[in-house]
Amino acid sequence: MTRGDPVCRREDCSPFDIGLVFDEIHNYSPHQKLEFVENVWKPGELFDFPVSMKNGKSRKFVSGWLKRFPWLAYSKYFDGAFCLACVCFGVQCGRNANKLDKLLKSPLTNWTSAASRLTKHSLGNCEIHNFSMTAMNDFKRMMQRGAVPIDQQLNNIVQQQIARNREILKSLFKTIIFCGKNNIPLRGRRDDDPTNAALTGNFQALLEFRVDSGDQTLQQHLDTAPRNVTYISKTIQNEMIETVGAHILNDLSQEIRNSKYFSVMADEAADISNKENVSVVIRFLDTTKTIREEFIGYYICEEGLTGEAIKDIITAAVANLGLTMEDCRGQCYDGAGNMAGRLNGASSLISAEHEKAIYVHCMNHRLNLCIADTCQLPIVRNMMDIVQRFLIFLTTLPSINNI
Ligand SMILES: [Zn+2]
Repeated sequence: MTRGDPVCRREDCSPFDIGLVFDEIHNYSPHQKLEFVENVWKPGELFDFPVSMKNGKSRKFVSGWLKRFPWLAYSKYFDGAFCLACVCFGVQCGRNANKLDKLLKSPLTNWTSAASRLTKHSLGNCEIHNFSMTAMNDFKRMMQRGAVPIDQQLNNIVQQQIARNREILKSLFKTIIFCGKNNIPLRGRRDDDPTNAALTGNFQALLEFRVDSGDQTLQQHLDTAPRNVTYISKTIQNEMIETVGAHILNDLSQEIRNSKYFSVMADEAADISNKENVSVVIRFLDTTKTIREEFIGYYICEEGLTGEAIKDIITAAVANLGLTMEDCRGQCYDGAGNMAGRLNGASSLISAEHEKAIYVHCMNHRLNLCIADTCQLPIVRNMMDIVQRFLIFLTTLPSINNI
C-alpha cells in the first residue's frame, strides 16, 4: 500500500493538515479529536492548488469539491484528498475499514477520476462512509452537549464512591489515632448498644463529637449506611488499630534499617490475665544522631519462659521488622537466670550466634537491686522516702505535662 509522497515540508503545513495526522488520530483523546474535527485545515479561496500532468493534460484539485462534499478534507502536505469522517471514525467500523484505502489510509491524488470516486464515496453509496458520518455527527453532538460517555460516567461514579469511602475512613482513623495519642481507651465493657447511652465507649462518643463539629460526610454515613457496614464495630476498631500499628512499625523499621546497627532491650511481665508477655524495645541512632528507644510490641510467651523461648521471641521480633541479628550490637535485660544466665540465658544463647551483640545488665534493674539491698540502712531508707515524696509531688503537679 502506498501512502503517497509528500509534496512539501511539514513545517510549511498547518498542524491541522489532515495529511499530517491521518494515521495517528485514533490515539487522540476525545477532546483532541473534537478540536481536530472542528479545525481541520481548509484551503482558502485564493489557494493555489499544485498542477500535475497526466496523459499530457494538466490536472489539479477543484475547490468546488469541498463545497459539494462537506466531509472532504484537502491535504497540502500530500496534495491529496481525505474523507474527514472516515479518517477519524472509519477504524471503529471494524474489519470493513480495511477495504477502503484511498481517502482513509492514503490520500486520493488522481484528479482525473476524482469526481466519480468522491461521488461513489458519498452518503448512501459506501458502507464505511455511512458508518463514519453517523459516528462523527453523534460524536460532535455528544461532545458539544458536554455529555460524558457511559463508560466514563460509570467510572466517575466509582471514583466518587472511592473518594467518599476514603473520607469516611479518614474520620474513623483520625479518631482512633486521637485515642491512641492521648491514652484514651476506645470502649468500655461494650459499646455496641445504641439504646444505652451510658454504655457508649469513648470511640463512639468521639465520633458523635466529630459529627457535632460539622463532619458532614461522617454524619451522612452514620445516618444512611446499612447496619452491617457502619465500620465502627469493635472488630473493625481492632482492625484499624492493627493497621495503624503496622504502618507505624513499617516507618520505624525503615528508620532502623537506614541506621543499620541497633540494640535490643526486653523484659517480661505478667498481664492482667496472668499471661507472661515480653516487651521488646529497639535502641538505635537515627539520622539526626539522636539515640532513640522505640517500643516494638508485646509478645505472649506461648512456649514458656526459658532462655531458649525468649531468645526465639526476640529474634522473631527483630526478623519481623526486616532487620537481621547480624547488625545487633547490644542486648539489655534484667539479671534473671532465663535472661542473663551464662549457659542457657537468652543473652548467652544470642551471643553464641551473634558475638557482637554484647549483653549489658539493665542499669535501672541494677539500681533497683542496689536500693533494695541498701534499704536496710536507715539513712538510705529515709533518703528514698524523700525521693518518693518528691516524685509524687512532681507527678501530681497539674502542669507537669507542660514542662
Ligand atoms: Zn468517508
